[in-house]
Amino acid sequence: MSVSDKSTDPASERTDEGPPNFIRDMVLELLQRDPDARLCTRFPPEPNGYLHIGHAKSIVLNFGLARLAPQGTCNLRFDDTNPATEETEYVEAIQADIRWLGFQWDGPVHYASDYFEQLYRWALDLIRAGKAYVDSQSVEELREGRGSFHQEGRVSPYRERSIEENLDLFQRMRAGEFDEGAHVLRAKIDMASKDVKLRDPLMYRIRKVAHHRTGSEWPIYPMYDWAHGQSDAIEEITHSICTLEFQNHRPLYDWFLDTLGISPRPYQTEFGKLNLTYTVLSKRRLLRLVNEGRVSGWDDPRMPTLAGMRRRGITPSALRAFCERVGVSKHDGAVDISLLEYYIREDLDATTRRVLAVLRPLKVVLVNLPEDAAIEVSAPYHPSDEAFGARTLTVTRELYIERDDFMEDPPKKYFRLAPGREVRLRYAAIIRCVEVIKDEAGEVVELRCTWDPETLGAHPPDGRKVKGTIHWVSASQGLDAEVRLYDRLYTVEDPMGHDGDFTEVLNPDSLVTLRGCKVEPSLGDAPVGDRVQFERAGYFCVDPDSRPGAAVFNRTIALKDSWAKIAAKK
Ligand code: ATP
Ligand code: MG
Repeated sequence: MSVSDKSTDPASERTDEGPPNFIRDMVLELLQRDPDARLCTRFPPEPNGYLHIGHAKSIVLNFGLARLAPQGTCNLRFDDTNPATEETEYVEAIQADIRWLGFQWDGPVHYASDYFEQLYRWALDLIRAGKAYVDSQSVEELREGRGSFHQEGRVSPYRERSIEENLDLFQRMRAGEFDEGAHVLRAKIDMASKDVKLRDPLMYRIRKVAHHRTGSEWPIYPMYDWAHGQSDAIEEITHSICTLEFQNHRPLYDWFLDTLGISPRPYQTEFGKLNLTYTVLSKRRLLRLVNEGRVSGWDDPRMPTLAGMRRRGITPSALRAFCERVGVSKHDGAVDISLLEYYIREDLDATTRRVLAVLRPLKVVLVNLPEDAAIEVSAPYHPSDEAFGARTLTVTRELYIERDDFMEDPPKKYFRLAPGREVRLRYAAIIRCVEVIKDEAGEVVELRCTWDPETLGAHPPDGRKVKGTIHWVSASQGLDAEVRLYDRLYTVEDPMGHDGDFTEVLNPDSLVTLRGCKVEPSLGDAPVGDRVQFERAGYFCVDPDSRPGAAVFNRTIALKDSWAKIAAKK
């Protein structure tokens, strides 16, 4: 896996033409030649886990291609041929995630399991044509017999079974008469082929496992390679877009379609999978994180799943923009995660209102204000977009500021609060720290400050300027909240390239939970999923764990890319 060069830097290459996409170009050419050409793509997930950002790339590509023609369509088909790992929960989550991403498939949801009967009949046809046979070797014998790229295949002693015997055995396999592993059905292609995939590949295995849709109706299940191309053909898919690992399956898919005499046939094109730095994208491995309790579930906001990213507060439009931007290519490379982060920030900058929240509160008492002071100031929700409106904030005698915004013994370029120093309270007036109160352990527990009413407002009449402006929340009006700070899930760029298990490089600080945070009162009725910017802190989103009076906010992303700074220092 290689990390892409600086071409992933959004600033270095932003044109209106969009990124290179040879698959889109191919379809556009076709439509130019034949504007009425049929165009049907599909997104074919296996329901063995939740969708991740790699799937988003495939969804954006397939649905986007269908939209190139007014009559274009895109199917959703679950490739549900492996009952052992597939579940209805996943089927439902995948549909919700596709819709959330902003796409709607055409027609009903399709399932490979709808085609089990047709596939079975086609298998009987192949047996009758002498093109498939029942093999009764053990699993190990089958594996050894296939050989490898360097080692020739070995012909099975069962290869020359008569058509009658094959039909009888296969029908009895279907009737459930045999145990798992007793027999398989193989295509009779060429054991001497250089292409290992063409050495009499398996078509069916006996599996006495209930299927999430067909229940116990089938004791045999089609192999993915036998089901996939035919499923595309049944749905009259015109463009079958796959990831690169399927390139070398194409001769086999063609053999099946040719031998069955199916036409018209789907045209298969492959593209490189999306990989991201600091990320592992494989449902099998994501399932391990869930099962081992290393994350709270498929929708843990650190997961690269669509469910996790939604809960984290990432917008579907940021994901779509990112997927468009990475384009498609013929090689597997890793995209720098900071490119995704760029799109997340860009989208949230434009779409979220700004609010004040103090994550690590330090109490401030404005000593020259009366106990019942309530000074109202107006604060716009967005610095440049008036459509967001404004709210009123109330300055009270007791406030909270960020602990980090005070230093007893500040270094030179520290422009925030310190003994004897002044700062402006955001949207309000300048305060001066006149006294520092500490507890017995010497920890600062309260600051006593004076409030200068003359400086109220954005442009102080006395022209006095201070270098620092800090955010604050009224102690009596602010609300308690829990804030979950998320960071990258791994400490290394390429978790799979690390020697050893990828779980060894999980970032122990990927979640930091802060309790007793204070947020401004306007957030009291923020609904689950609401996204805001906490000024100076980052973008946050209301988590479903929120309860009345006890909001939980997830940090979607910090305002600036602190990792870039860390990397630059190295
Ligand atoms: P995983 O290993 O994560 O389970 P998969 O390819 O086995 O991935 P499927 O459910 O079979 O997952 O994939 C559905 C579709 O999404 C397929 O067309 C597949 O090629 C595509 N896809 C999966 N992962 C990626 C990725 N990282 N980038 C682009 N497309 C992907
Ligand atoms: Mg898979």
